[in-house]
Amino acid sequence: MSSLSSLSSSLSKPTVWHEFSPLASASGAVNLGQGFPNWDPPGFVKQALKDAVDVPGPAVNQYCRSQCHLPLATALADEYKARPSWSHLPIDPLTNIVSSVGCTQVMYCAFRSLLSPGDEVLLLEPAFDIYASQVKLCGGEPRFCSLTTDLSAPLTSNDVFKFDWEKLEAAITEKTRVLVLNTPHNPTGKMFSMPELSRIAEMVEAHPNLLVFSDEVYEHMVYDDASSPHISFATLPGMWDRTLTLSSAGKTFSTTGWKVGWGVGPEHIIKKMTDLQNWVCFSAPSVTQEAIARSLVRARQPYLEYSSFYAWLADDYRRKRAILTEHLASVGLTPISPQGGFFICADSSSITCPDSVYHEPSLSAPQPMPRDWALARHLTQTVKVAAIPPSPFYSPANVAEASHYLRFAFCKTDEELEEAGRRLREHLGAR
Ligand code: PMP
Repeated sequence: MSSLSSLSSSLSKPTVWHEFSPLASASGAVNLGQGFPNWDPPGFVKQALKDAVDVPGPAVNQYCRSQCHLPLATALADEYKARPSWSHLPIDPLTNIVSSVGCTQVMYCAFRSLLSPGDEVLLLEPAFDIYASQVKLCGGEPRFCSLTTDLSAPLTSNDVFKFDWEKLEAAITEKTRVLVLNTPHNPTGKMFSMPELSRIAEMVEAHPNLLVFSDEVYEHMVYDDASSPHISFATLPGMWDRTLTLSSAGKTFSTTGWKVGWGVGPEHIIKKMTDLQNWVCFSAPSVTQEAIARSLVRARQPYLEYSSFYAWLADDYRRKRAILTEHLASVGLTPISPQGGFFICADSSSITCPDSVYHEPSLSAPQPMPRDWALARHLTQTVKVAAIPPSPFYSPANVAEASHYLRFAFCKTDEELEEAGRRLREHLGAR
């Protein structure tokens, strides 16, 4: 286990986000790097916050319960129970739900309260870069198992990114305390299928000490619902008791800055997290929780010509996915079509990166600079379209697997997506 002081030097190092967001703005690039929507939240969500502030009395503008603002816990319990696959689960708003500052802090509270020194946490690479650092901060040891990639398969994220079951089975040991799942998946857009999740459930059953944290922040960005529905691991037989499901309002309601996140799970997990939260921040902000509680109720109702806000959201993102897919394909950045989430991983093998870029000073690149990193810098500075290199989503042993990919976000206005397409064709040439 690393001591906190030995960790602090690695924590103070700039990350890929510190490098590419400033580089994009200094270069005047269309920023398809960091994953936040560049538009306002929907009117009903903004109104919910304005209304929440005006609720008379102490219920909303003062501290709430440490566990979760009660109206949010109630709205979440109703929301999950309204889903057919969740309806049989015993979700009690008082004991099965915790909220915190974004999914990120929910995850931190979970690692901090459930890991003992030396416990291992298995991450499926590519993996959202915050997980491994949090595990280390909480005294655990991150272990990695990468998804395999098969570019001869149809170019959809579910077909290209697959499990190597033998490798996964070998990676789960008696020391593995947590397996982190993320579906829909950042950065690939893969949605874990029922056969895949069932196989993982068998492994969980074989290891009584193992818990699963399932990060589902992109749960409403699902594009091929009939063939690839969103499946929560907690709903598989026997898995409720072994699973913490995490999500947040940031992506769903275009409110990443509100940082309202939650965890749903059995009392033996939630109680440990809320006992900890009591001593960390005492409680998450009440007023944004109130606004999200109200928005969750509204979101299930008809919206524009759609059956719900969620149906509209998925359709709007499906349209944006089509725009960016076409632009990337037109210049030979071969898109691997995501089934969920709002990122496209593209195979960049046909694009040449000038040698000089590899020698540029970089705030955060590993040395020698990986190809995906250099190409992302080249696109940002010269083509003026920013993308994120996926190498920070891999541990050093597997980082070579990132070299021919770039991650592009399509949670951007149509105008920005069209402008990105124009710049890509102008600099890289249409194919
Ligand atoms: N999980 C994943 C997989 C993410 O991609 C992100 C944001 N990029 C988060 C969690 C962060 O969620 P929040 O903003 O609610 O903390």
